Amino acid sequence: MASSILEALDIIANKITPIDKEIIPIEISVNRVVTEDYIATFDLPRFNNSAMDGYAVKVSDAGKNVTCSDVIYAGDNPQMTLEESQVIKIMTGAPIPKGCEAIVPIENVHIENEVITLPSNIQHDGFIRMKGEDIRKDTIYLAKGEIINAYTIASLASQGVTHVSVHRVIKVAIFGTGDELRPHFEKIEDHQLYNSNSPMFLTRSRELGCDVRFIRTSADTLEALEASIKSTLDADIIITSGGVSVGDKDFTKVAFTNLGMQVLIDKIDIKPGRPTIVGEIGKTIIVNLPGNPLAAMVNYELFVRAIIRKLSGQNILHHNTVQTSMKKDFSVRGGKYAIVLGRYDGKSFEALTSQMPGMVSPMQEADGMILITPDVKILESGKSVYMIPIKWEFCSSKKEELFSK
Ligand code: AMP
Ligand code: MG
Repeated sequence: MASSILEALDIIANKITPIDKEIIPIEISVNRVVTEDYIATFDLPRFNNSAMDGYAVKVSDAGKNVTCSDVIYAGDNPQMTLEESQVIKIMTGAPIPKGCEAIVPIENVHIENEVITLPSNIQHDGFIRMKGEDIRKDTIYLAKGEIINAYTIASLASQGVTHVSVHRVIKVAIFGTGDELRPHFEKIEDHQLYNSNSPMFLTRSRELGCDVRFIRTSADTLEALEASIKSTLDADIIITSGGVSVGDKDFTKVAFTNLGMQVLIDKIDIKPGRPTIVGEIGKTIIVNLPGNPLAAMVNYELFVRAIIRKLSGQNILHHNTVQTSMKKDFSVRGGKYAIVLGRYDGKSFEALTSQMPGMVSPMQEADGMILITPDVKILESGKSVYMIPIKWEFCSSKKEELFSK
């Protein structure tokens, strides 16, 4: 029986387990998911230090004329004590000397003939960066299941961590099925078709951090399909497209079942893409997507992305949405749970006028998709909708307002 969209996503979240781990240098860990909590072994900053180039002062000297007795640079280990009526010149990042109660930035003092006049209002601890205010010793600064980004790597480096324990890269195998399909680098006859799904999934899976191991097209016979499957079973996910419908040569499911596939999701109540199947052979997750390119793409974005997140060990798994509104009226056939692709400019969602399941060209236009229920027949201009983003480098063809005033 077909699963609903939400049931299918629940099955993915509950039945799939993350892949194993490895330990790698932090410099190459970007986009990986950590397998354990990282706990700070020392305070950051390690010592109280100056937030500005300025003067270490006593608060009681505010408004007074003082003399400068010394200089402390970043990297120094000062042993002196600051006395009253004195200041010590100090650079950003340099340790605060004993007796210092605040830092006054250079631009806030008045200097004439080597006499330094301090401002009349000096706040206790002003411009001092306190030991541990950034990362406190013994606290978690990177939690199990988080994705490493460049700024995570900064935190790890700041704790002197050289290697990090992460889930290994997901191995993806991809193949298309269909006697009509040829690879894009071959000459074809008029009755043949280039396989556009496999390069699409190859690239998208790479964008999502996977290692794509294998790509080929299988003929529409059980023998050819079974041979393709056997040669890809060392992958963590096998993604196929085509051959899952009710055509005479639609053998994809039979071939996987013959090789031991346990079905987790058998069809999904979604338009386009109802024939989608998710299963497993041992530890390998199988996803059979429809052949129609746009149908395959939207089901990839909705379900394969969710599978990749779960396998990768991420602790934040669920699709999130942007609440926006329709730019223009858009009519749909209704009666089905359906996906509408569209453009999002930061203000509103504009459905793509032409988005048939068998099309290729609309896919590159889509910034996101909205899911609609069977009762929806028209999405009126201005109607509030929830958009699931597809790509998230967010730019504009014109200069946008950048300031919040
Ligand atoms: P199927 O699901 O095998 O019945 O295929 C549905 C439609 O998608 C047919 O028109 C196929 O020719 C087309 N199709 C199947 N696989 C691909 C592919 N890898 N690339 C482009 N089109 C495909
Ligand atoms: Mg086919």
